[in-house]
Amino acid sequence: MNQPNQLKLIPSVDKLLSSAAFRNTIGVYGHTRTSQSIREYLSSLRSQVRQNDGHPIPAMEDIAVIITTSLDAIDTSSLRPVLNLTGTVLHTNLGRAALPASALDAVIRTASGNTNLEFDLSEGKRGDRDDHVEKLLCELTGAEAVTVVNNNAAAVLICLNTFAFGKEVCISRGELVEIGGSFRIPEVMEKSGCSLRELGATNRTHLKDYANAVNEHTGLLMKVHTSNYEIRGFTQEVSYEAVARLAKESDVPFLADLGSGTLVNLEHYGLEHEPTVQEVLKAGTDVVTFSGDKLLGGPQSGIIAGRKDLIEQVKNNPLKRALRVDKMTIAALSEVLKLYKHPESLTRELPTIRHLARRSEEIRSIAETVLPAFTKSAGDKATVSIIPSASQIGSGALPLNQLPSFSIQIKPISERDSALQQLARAFRDMPVPVVGRLHGGALLFDVRTLDECALLIDQLEHFAWP
Ligand SMILES: *Cc1c(COP(=O)(O)O)cnc(C)c1O
Repeated sequence: MNQPNQLKLIPSVDKLLSSAAFRNTIGVYGHTRTSQSIREYLSSLRSQVRQNDGHPIPAMEDIAVIITTSLDAIDTSSLRPVLNLTGTVLHTNLGRAALPASALDAVIRTASGNTNLEFDLSEGKRGDRDDHVEKLLCELTGAEAVTVVNNNAAAVLICLNTFAFGKEVCISRGELVEIGGSFRIPEVMEKSGCSLRELGATNRTHLKDYANAVNEHTGLLMKVHTSNYEIRGFTQEVSYEAVARLAKESDVPFLADLGSGTLVNLEHYGLEHEPTVQEVLKAGTDVVTFSGDKLLGGPQSGIIAGRKDLIEQVKNNPLKRALRVDKMTIAALSEVLKLYKHPESLTRELPTIRHLARRSEEIRSIAETVLPAFTKSAGDKATVSIIPSASQIGSGALPLNQLPSFSIQIKPISERDSALQQLARAFRDMPVPVVGRLHGGALLFDVRTLDECALLIDQLEHFAWP
């Protein structure tokens, strides 16, 4: 086969690298990455030319644009900060809790060098990474002992595997929860090597149902907080106290998965009551599991708190090594827990609680601060107004509890659905993407969680309205 003539016109890697067109790209991305990218591009260009000799060969300047755009895309498609104005305070897809400043400082200090993560400085010998948070967590929850794993799903998994491997776990049919992201209690149970012993009915479970289910194969009694739904109407569930008493009489441990698990009484902030970790342990529950990055407002982690002998068993399970947390998590969690020692500081210092506790007047005033920038930017392309709206906690906490809030409502003049989609897309394309929600033919930005007014206003000034 004849060599297509066009092939000879393709510039060499060296020629491109030494050309003025590539000077900026090499400055930003370095010689190695740029030449790698050029090589990949030229190889695909060559194969296109081999298939079609008429294939055009771009000028060097155009090749530089293609290469730079693709390198830019690789660098910006990774993890980026976004403004969460969806109205869901703890949004799993948007990374849940924002950490307080003290936790961020601690992460930087800890991650930038070595630490005494598992090293006892007074004795000069091996320590336990849980030591850095266990004492604080015991103080705050009233637990005898605590251990921490990668997330609450891991906490549930390791507890089931530790306490009930090869045995039955008794749980009410009303609590066979699916959390989302394929975490379903029955399936986790199977993976942990336990068998599920369902009891009661979906809407009503009585103490005698638990009592009847306990036999020589029982390894664990379990209650799961129905985080993301509520069963209403003719219902009955058994209290933590009653299950705890039965567990003691039957000599099997009692585990409660609280999901969100708060350490403070949410009624202080005008929210509904959610059982606290302290209350559930005080009721006689042997072990409680909860998330570090839901209502607690900390880093992703799963906290296991309870009876010392049982927590010791979890720590000794080989799975603990696979599910343990990183030093950055320990550093951040420890700072967040310190804030709970001064509960009055929480609404100021801890973003999750600050956002949940934010009063209507303050939210309205944030909306009024950013409204002019929206109005100016929209020009005659949309109508912009402030409307009352409802935020929610998210991540399965108090699913039916709506928090009164305010949103910026944007209605494009064009009533086509595509205009709305395009607008939402344009906001997601901002340098710091802004994520809202579509509702009733409008784009809503709930400002309960907005702390960066200046950034948003600045972005609106440079915004090319679609
Ligand atoms: C959220 C939740 C989990 C999973 O917790 P992660 O921290 O997301 O792993 C488990 N159980 C319940 C009841 C939950 O609400």
